[in-house]
Amino acid sequence: VAVLGADVADLRERMNELQGQVAELAELTAYREVAACRLPNRAGADRLSVGFPISPERIPASGNVNVAVLFVDFPDAPALQGATATADEEGSTHDLFGQIVSDAKRYLKAMSYGTFDVTFRPLHRWLRMPHNLSPYYRDYKNGYARGTGRFRLIGDAIGLADPDFDFEDIDSVVVIAAPEADSIGQAASLRELFYADGQTIGNSISLGSRDGQGPDGLTIPHELGHNLGLPDLYDTSVSRDSEGHLPDEVDRFVGEFGLMGVGQRSSQAEMFAWSRWQLGWLRDTQVAC
Ligand SMILES: [Zn+2]
Repeated sequence: VAVLGADVADLRERMNELQGQVAELAELTAYREVAACRLPNRAGADRLSVGFPISPERIPASGNVNVAVLFVDFPDAPALQGATATADEEGSTHDLFGQIVSDAKRYLKAMSYGTFDVTFRPLHRWLRMPHNLSPYYRDYKNGYARGTGRFRLIGDAIGLADPDFDFEDIDSVVVIAAPEADSIGQAASLRELFYADGQTIGNSISLGSRDGQGPDGLTIPHELGHNLGLPDLYDTSVSRDSEGHLPDEVDRFVGEFGLMGVGQRSSQAEMFAWSRWQLGWLRDTQVAC
């Protein structure tokens, strides 16, 4: 009986070894298959793409990323009127920062498993733009998401902030419009270049003040997704109905499963695994395809 017991123990050990080898081989095979699933980036090195590699001209997907946050108002839409009339200047920008920006750091750190650490650097005052609202935002009425108006807006905001703000290690700039500028409803990310304090800033975001309010607002993470090189994953060809609502078809790609699929609509969405794979937040060995 003792001899038989030893044989069984040997056989068990040998079986465990073989099982280990089978698992290793399976992982190796899966790894090769996964590499073949990487769609190539056909959009071009400076474009948003669902492919690999992600554009090197966008903000880095790991380590510390610094984002300036600037608050702007306009001669025909000054801040601290209407709804914010009772707040002081600093109080009102702190409120907006809390509503729109501050949750994004924790959200993106969680989505990236701790890889992406964004620091928002707000300048807590209202920068009065040199022009009224319409030259900055009329591009949207014509349907151009990245028109010259937003380019002027961000350039003017950086210029006004520059004497009081150090842009030296800034990767992206977020410009938030005063609540009084309520004709501004839509966020946009830009890839144009701005220059300040010796720094070239090739990524920026323009927001209306209504964007992303509420505890689960994902507008900033979504727009930073574009700054990271990710494209929209909702159907951008679907237009609003006569009452201004977006029909359900807009969600027919990844819908609530992905941050880039939900646009500016408030949601509990996490980041689509494909996007995380593109950004290197998921490794090949964690992907099956
Ligand atoms: Zn988008």
